[in-house]
Amino acid sequence: MTPAASTKPYPHLFAPLDLGFTTLRNRVLMGSMHTGLEDRRRDFPKLAAYLAERAAGGAGLIVTGGFAPNVEGWLKPFGGKLSWPWETGPHRQLTRAVHEHGAKLCLQLLHAGRYGYHPLQVAPSKLKAPINPFTPRELGARGIERQIRAFASAAARARDAGYDGVEVMGSEGYLINQFTAPRTNRRDDAWGGDARRRMRFAVEIVRRVREACGPDFILVYRLSLLDLVEDGNTWDEVLEQARAVEAAGATIINSGIGWHEARVPTIATSVPRAAFAGITGRLRPHVSVPVVAVNRINMPEVAEEILASGQADLVSLARPLLADPEWPNKARAGRAGAINTCIACNQACLDHIFVGKVASCLVNPRAGHETELRYEPTANPRRIAVVGAGPAGLACATVAAQRGHHVTLFEASDRIGGQFNLASRIPGKEEFTETLRYFRHRLEDTGVEVRLGTVAGPAELAGYDEIVLATGIVPRKADFPGADDPRVAGYMDILSGRVQAGPRVAIVGAGGIGFDVAEFLVHEGQSPSLDPVRWRAEWGVDLDGNARGGLATPAPEAPARQVWLLQRSPGRPGARLGKTTGWIHRATLRHKKVRMIGGVEYLGLEADGFRVRIDNAEQLLEVDTVVVCAGQEPRRELQARLEEAGITAPVHLIGGAYLAAELDAKRAIDQGSRLAAGF
Ligand code: FAD
Ligand code: NAP
Ligand code: SF4
Repeated sequence: MTPAASTKPYPHLFAPLDLGFTTLRNRVLMGSMHTGLEDRRRDFPKLAAYLAERAAGGAGLIVTGGFAPNVEGWLKPFGGKLSWPWETGPHRQLTRAVHEHGAKLCLQLLHAGRYGYHPLQVAPSKLKAPINPFTPRELGARGIERQIRAFASAAARARDAGYDGVEVMGSEGYLINQFTAPRTNRRDDAWGGDARRRMRFAVEIVRRVREACGPDFILVYRLSLLDLVEDGNTWDEVLEQARAVEAAGATIINSGIGWHEARVPTIATSVPRAAFAGITGRLRPHVSVPVVAVNRINMPEVAEEILASGQADLVSLARPLLADPEWPNKARAGRAGAINTCIACNQACLDHIFVGKVASCLVNPRAGHETELRYEPTANPRRIAVVGAGPAGLACATVAAQRGHHVTLFEASDRIGGQFNLASRIPGKEEFTETLRYFRHRLEDTGVEVRLGTVAGPAELAGYDEIVLATGIVPRKADFPGADDPRVAGYMDILSGRVQAGPRVAIVGAGGIGFDVAEFLVHEGQSPSLDPVRWRAEWGVDLDGNARGGLATPAPEAPARQVWLLQRSPGRPGARLGKTTGWIHRATLRHKKVRMIGGVEYLGLEADGFRVRIDNAEQLLEVDTVVVCAGQEPRRELQARLEEAGITAPVHLIGGAYLAAELDAKRAIDQGSRLAAGF
């Protein structure tokens, strides 16, 4: 029976893939993600538990985080590597853990080249990366041979450790990609000059890995299909590389999209779903090995469509399996609505890695912490009241109910979600609605009693064993002269549609919400994040193979309004936004000609506009509306009322109710989940 004729959900996604010497049980490849657990031997039991959950959840082929083939290839000093015999042993825990659950496991071999954050780094040419303070040493011919040998012997060690294969990282701007692209390879010897010599390093590594590991070993080659930097490869050069690595012994070609130094977003939430699958589709007819589509594939219908339309043979899900290890099993069982969807926020995965913390997930705080954050059934079920169905309250109520407690969730408004309902209205944050859909399922599955439209007070909360206040925040009011004028609105008024902004707007406060409100105001009509063609035009992404590196000239659409985004503190607005996404918000607003100004003193709203002082000079900003995004205060007056009413049950504060400063959904969900894990 052909997959299409099957009556099972997602027939293409769950069709096995025969590789000749081995078979993958389905088309879900868990893409490589560095978790921070790869670097120290003592963290391997945690890494094994993390991988085991993803294997048990139904992934077909899992690729580990990157391991360097030698010290020169380290991502950072003392990062994970596999170059000595004694480094092999601990890996057996990982391969055993994954094989127990029927998945295959590949080790990713990643040589960072000039992206290595240490002074031992090497590269084809002595050119510093714009995102790294270290300048690499240029490799000589013997040094190049040493790197190739290191790849081959690390692959052989991986085979000894029980891995089913390796993935050779040839994209994202790491060493192999530095050889293939003219941007970073300025050599004029056997390893550089024309395209054939630039790709020789990649091809030689694949050939020698195959030689070292034999024919029955999976060799995934991650090929940079779009470099998205100046002086990247042309499409013809990419095709030539693809054919050459296939001939050299690659079993599967995975897609790589964009170097780390690229200034085009590739995985952020504002990137449309499957925005880059088309480029894998363009490659597929030119090779005979299976190809993998990547980036922003977060729901089964997206994955199925890519496979059914013939764009790829496998789909790579990385962050979506951090968010929900059970993703494949739920999809196969026809329970896609129960998937905890990755919203591509990067807040707990990539942002953590950037500051040296273990990667986790905003919507699933257990990710990376499987051994210590466990939701065990309770031996002592209690009656628990949770007040507020924002992210904190939802996480707390569902984890407590999953563990067997009797939970009632009170929500004043007519829907669950709290501020996430506003966040999902921001163009580029549409994914946030998936979290609310997930929680709706979860409330039902875990049997939480939900009371919408109920403002909980002492009367409603009498008789419970534990009371959790997840009542969120109240927006802070601004205090400039004229702040009571009808032309001044709060961000909630604007985002909820209660107030329409005029054509010229000043935003007071340039935190995360100020930036989001600016994006809301400058966009009109359908969000480009829901329209890949418009989105690619805005950022200058060429999938047609015309522009070198896939980098065309960006053509942003005109802004819907003229916006000033202001903050009192000096310096560049947006400096405190997320490490991996802040630059995208700033670039988007620059495209839309938003004036982002720090060091502003608000002198007051006047008849003709908003008077401010910037750099000791007064200015009148001729605006029709001022939107206040000046942070928040905790909403927790209920705590005192409960005390006054003589309610003695323990009262717990979480999320914004606990602390409004630096609040985000990551903390809210984490705090709610951890509190409930301890009840
Ligand atoms: P809230 O979400 O504020 O929920 C509190 C709930 O309690 C509300 O539903 C309220 O109606 C209810 N309630 C209050 N009192 C009572 C009562 N007495 N009885 C019953 N119910 C009551 N965070 C991120 O991490 N990443 C982002 O990208 C992001 N973007 C955002 C964009 C916007 C535009 C906004 C507004 C917020 C954004 N946030 C983001 C912040 C995030 O939404 C909040 O941190 C999170 O919602 C806080 O969760 P919470 O549960 O503490 O409170
Ligand atoms: P915020 O980040 O604390 O920013 C508040 C802004 O208001 C600051 O720019 C502050 O800077 C200004 N401000 C404070 N008091 C003021 C006053 N009295 N008058 C005028 N301006 C004042 O808060 P937020 O923007 O409301 O965001 C709330 C939380 O949601 C944040 O912690 C954030 O992490 C989260 N969030 C995250 C994202 C994301 O993409 N990750 C997006 C949205 C929200 P000055 O004092 O310099 O003016
Ligand atoms: Fe996805 Fe955000 Fe979780 Fe990372 S933290 S896996 S981007 S939901």
